[in-house]
Amino acid sequence: MSQTPSTPASGEARRVRLRIAPSPTGDPHVGTAYMSMFDLAYARQQGGVFVLRIEDTDRARYHEDSEQQIYDTLAWLGLQWDEGPDVGGPYAPYRQSERLDSYRPYVERLLADGHAYHCWCSGERLAQMREEQQRAKQPTGYDRRCLGLSRQEREALPGFTEVPVVRMRVPDDVELTFTDLVRGQVSAPRPDDQVILKADGFPTYHLAVVVDDHEMGITHVVRGEEWISSTPKHLLLYRWLGLPEPQFAHMPLLRDEKKAKISKRRSPWARLTWFREEGYLPEALLNFLALLGYPPILEDDGTEREVFTFEEFTQRFDWAKVNTVGPIFNLDKLNWLNGHYIRELEVGELASRLLPVLQEEGVLGPQPALGALARLKEVTALVQTRIVTLKDAVPLVAPFYVADEDLPIADDARAQLKDDAAQVLDAALHALAPIDGSIGGRLDSVPEWTAARIEAALREALVEGMGLKPRLAFGPLRTAVAGQRISTPLFESMEILGKHSTVERLRRLREELEHA
Ligand code: GLU
Repeated sequence: MSQTPSTPASGEARRVRLRIAPSPTGDPHVGTAYMSMFDLAYARQQGGVFVLRIEDTDRARYHEDSEQQIYDTLAWLGLQWDEGPDVGGPYAPYRQSERLDSYRPYVERLLADGHAYHCWCSGERLAQMREEQQRAKQPTGYDRRCLGLSRQEREALPGFTEVPVVRMRVPDDVELTFTDLVRGQVSAPRPDDQVILKADGFPTYHLAVVVDDHEMGITHVVRGEEWISSTPKHLLLYRWLGLPEPQFAHMPLLRDEKKAKISKRRSPWARLTWFREEGYLPEALLNFLALLGYPPILEDDGTEREVFTFEEFTQRFDWAKVNTVGPIFNLDKLNWLNGHYIRELEVGELASRLLPVLQEEGVLGPQPALGALARLKEVTALVQTRIVTLKDAVPLVAPFYVADEDLPIADDARAQLKDDAAQVLDAALHALAPIDGSIGGRLDSVPEWTAARIEAALREALVEGMGLKPRLAFGPLRTAVAGQRISTPLFESMEILGKHSTVERLRRLREELEHA
């Protein structure tokens, strides 16, 4: 069409271009990541381009922080877009609100060709119409009151409003089936005479998506299955405007345990920000999302593998294999994957992933000293097999970064102490650091302060010496050292804390019991 602005250069035509087009209406939805992952996998596999477009024409639902959250969460997941509002690109602007001028010529053309018409019906009139249709048990839809009328003719009738909208005139013989990359032949219900230009001059989604996808050279439109019913309208617009049609892939909607569409109201994990807050690793979440929409990798020997990298997914990706049944979001599976990825990380890498989480929780300050970082690596080795999410590490790591005199003793740990706790602590203190006679002085009875030596000394004193079962012998020590019933392994923890802190913590609890 001659009056349309930038149309992709023909040299680009062969290169696949996919886009994610989120609306900044609140916390980004997990579906945005899910769809972006498929977009990016296919774009990378084909040497194509992944575009991020912000669909912000719904000003009533616009949310200021949302756009930045979309950037942050997608970048956190490593789903890096090649073109977008923040990085620019040959088809800028990538924010719909900055493209308003581009839609007008398309609307004019549709009006001139009789494919669209003005509608002056007031909101009240439309509501009344719908009510009557419902009462008469008729299908609801615009009754074409304004079709074929001039402004003057319409003004003479009731239910008139000054500023019109523009509606598309859906023909009776509209094609209702189309080919979907994931689903094959798809049939959609007959559409209404859809509004394409609102009274405020903003295009509706239906017009904007077609115009933008065309102008941005999008070859594959990947979106949620809730858009299937809109696709016949979009195909009409492509045909009327003489634009090449993209291919469509309608992805199954993620569902919760009750098989209902995931909603941000019911499921916290519908919010993409939730995963980061809760300490999930981006690679685990990607793997999980891939498994929701895609079968496990089939190995040459016929076995299935559920753990795979995004690169492996990209290499094997095939639209025909995408599930068409709404996958159930199973948090246990995600937890299993997350724990797996955590255990696979090199200790230093895990420590650096834990650092921001610990800082956020106030366990470590904004600029930890070198010693604190070195200690973090030691402690990380102890927590690695004991956590499912990064956040799980917080209570386990916290005791290593608190002054001995500030260590909180949890109520349940205190409640667990038996009558012999004081005796056990005395014996432990004697084993680790017997009093040497000088005031406050203690002998160096465990000169080599290693977990093995500490354990040997304590076993000798408590298990052999006092005849206690290990669990009963070491419980009070754990409470003294970590302040909790669940902690990192006792002797290794004592080694990391060092002799001074260990003895100090044992002594403090012992003293407290004295005064209790
Ligand atoms: N803005 C739409 C959404 O957020 C995009 C749908 C599409 O991809 O066409 O769902």
